[in-house]
This record gives sequence, C-alpha cells and structure tokens, in this order.
Amino acid sequence: MTKLQLSNVSKRFQAVQALKDVSLELDAGQMLAVLGPSGCGKTTLLRSIAGFEFPDAGAISVDGKVFMNRRTWVRPEKRRVGYVPQNGVLFPHLTVAKNIAFGLSRAERKSSRVSDMLALVGMDGLGERMPHELSGGQQQRVALARALAPAPSLVLLDEPFSALDAGLRAALREEVRTTLKAIGATAIMVTHDQEEALSMADRVAVMRHGCCVQVADPVSLYKYPADLGVARFVGEATLLQAPVANGCIDTLFGRLKVASGCPENCRRATIMLRPEQFVVGKPQGQPVSGRVLKTIYHGHDALIYLRADAPLGTEDIRVRVMGAPAFAPGDRVGIAVSGDVMAYPQPSPEDERA
Ligand code: ATP
Repeated sequence: MTKLQLSNVSKRFQAVQALKDVSLELDAGQMLAVLGPSGCGKTTLLRSIAGFEFPDAGAISVDGKVFMNRRTWVRPEKRRVGYVPQNGVLFPHLTVAKNIAFGLSRAERKSSRVSDMLALVGMDGLGERMPHELSGGQQQRVALARALAPAPSLVLLDEPFSALDAGLRAALREEVRTTLKAIGATAIMVTHDQEEALSMADRVAVMRHGCCVQVADPVSLYKYPADLGVARFVGEATLLQAPVANGCIDTLFGRLKVASGCPENCRRATIMLRPEQFVVGKPQGQPVSGRVLKTIYHGHDALIYLRADAPLGTEDIRVRVMGAPAFAPGDRVGIAVSGDVMAYPQPSPEDERA
C-alpha cells in the first residue's frame, strides 16, 4: 500500500531552487533514507511533508489524503506527522515524561502512553529526569519517543544521529530501526552519511541540487548507481575509461561485461568498479600488475590504494580486503576484477562543448 506520495514538488527560496520537481513514493511500514550533500534540499523536503514549508508547486498525500496541492493545504498539526528536527531539542524546562506527553490529548496523557513510549525506547524509569540529566543518546531517544507518542501516520527524522559519537550512533541506529519496525511506522530519515542510509533504510533517495536523482533499495543503489555522481557519493568507486563493443568493454583487466548503464550506441564509457570487485594477490599469473601506494586499515577491513600498470600509462585503483592488508606500500601485486561493471556513456567532445 502506498503510504506517501510526492508529485513534482518544487520550492524556491529567492535565488535558490531548494526542491525541483521531486517525485517519490513510499510504501507503508518502509523506511526511506534521504541522502545528499549539504544544501541539496533534504531538510526542505522533510519540512514540506510536515507542513512547515509551503511548496510552490506539486502535490503531497499520505494514505491517499491530500496534504497539499494547488487547491488544498492541511495545517501541520492536522497532518499526524511525527517530526524530529535536526538537533531535535527537548523542552529544557520539562521532564522527560512531560516532553513525551507534550503533543498528547488529555485522555492520552492519563493513559499508559507515556510509560509505553519510555519502555519502547529503553528508558523505563527515567521519566522524571530533566533533559540536562540525560546523555546525548538518551536525549535523542526521548525526542524520538515524543515524535512517536501521538501515533503519527508518518515519522520524519532529520539527521537523528548527527550529534553522537561513533559507538552510540551505531547502537542507536539499530534501536531506532527496530523501534520503527516494531510499531510498523513509515519513516523518512535525512542523513548525509551513506553508510547510515544503506544500513538502515529499505529505500534510499539520493538528492542533488534540489532534485531527486535516484530512489532505489540499498543494494541496487550501491551496485547500479544512476550516474557517476551517485556512484561517487555512495561508497568508494574507481573510475576507468574504456571502449565499448557489443555489451562488453575492453579494459586493462580484459573484456568485462557491462551490467547496466550504457546505451547500445555508446562507443566509449567510464566504468565504475567498487573496491570489493578487485582481487589482489601475488603478481604471477594475474592479468594486471601494480604497486601498492598506501593502505588504510579500518579494523574489519582495509583499503589498498594501488597504481596499476596500464598499456598507456597507469591507473589508480582502490581495493577493499577483509581484515588487515597483506601488503605494504611499495609491494608489487597482481590485480584481477570479478563481476559485471557499471558503464556510463562518455560525452563526446561535441556534447561537452554544447
Ligand atoms: P544540510 O545537509 O546542510 O542540512 P539540506 O540538504 O538539508 O542541507 P536545506 O536545508 O533543505 O538543505 O536547504 C536547501 C537550500 O535552500 C540551501 O541552499 C539553503 O541555503 C536554502 N534554504 C533553506 N531554507 C531557506 C530559507 N528559509 N531561506 C532561504 N534559503 C533557504
């Protein structure tokens, strides 16, 4: 069932086109992450759905009920949308329980709703604390509980973990996802952290300059980015230029199959390889050899920066290996590629001049 539908939503602030023809659909119970660089329109999108911005054009509906279009405008308080703004601050002079009860009716306040919400976010017994007596992560959870308490039909979270350290961030991501799934909430979460988007969301929308450039499930987004901009923004990418013929592409790694992305008449392409698609080993018997430039160890994996010997010079590539790298800067290695590659048409010099 379609929960949220946005059709061609646009919003301009003076000279800035903050949203440009944004169309999106989200099913009930799904979580959408909105990913994009600073200033691309993520917050404006959330605020437009919540009713705090007045789009210039387009339509927004939830559960088939029109929130806004050319003739209709539903006030924010009538939308039943739970909105946690960026740095979702609590009311500092109210206890945790009173913060959570803020948007509830008198009957709801008398019910067990507040204690249910405290239990849901794992904060039983902390209702009488003041916000300043809580850790950053606990405050974040109270902000979430406050947004969920009135049983909103849609939950909007604007960078909910931006103020937290890495450990807390990872733990809370999982908690928030579990909480939202447990109550079957439909949610949109803004982030500029691609790992957060891929790990938490059912679908990810990538925005750029006010446009929604791609909406896809996390695996498709990572494997089949719509363009080179998305490829570079969502994860590490090595880009190589090569000729295309009959759905195959001739690269220094031999003939590779094009997964998707290049039209049939395309002659030259930029191909995109993720670091996991490379295999490195001893130089003997591999199609390509190269030299290790540097390694970056992340604990569970490592990135190796390599300079591969190509027929016409060299190509710099990035390879991911599990655990600690078995190579050091200066080592010579053999490099192979596994799997299909994404290919993007290379503009001809005429296209670039146009
Ligand atoms: P960030 O990740 O930095 O929070 P964002 O993707 O959420 O950015 P928005 O806050 O939606 O971006 O802003 C989109 C553009 O619209 C930016 O260029 C911003 O400066 C501009 N903008 C947003 N709100 C206003 C406003 N009230 N008046 C004028 N310009 C605005």
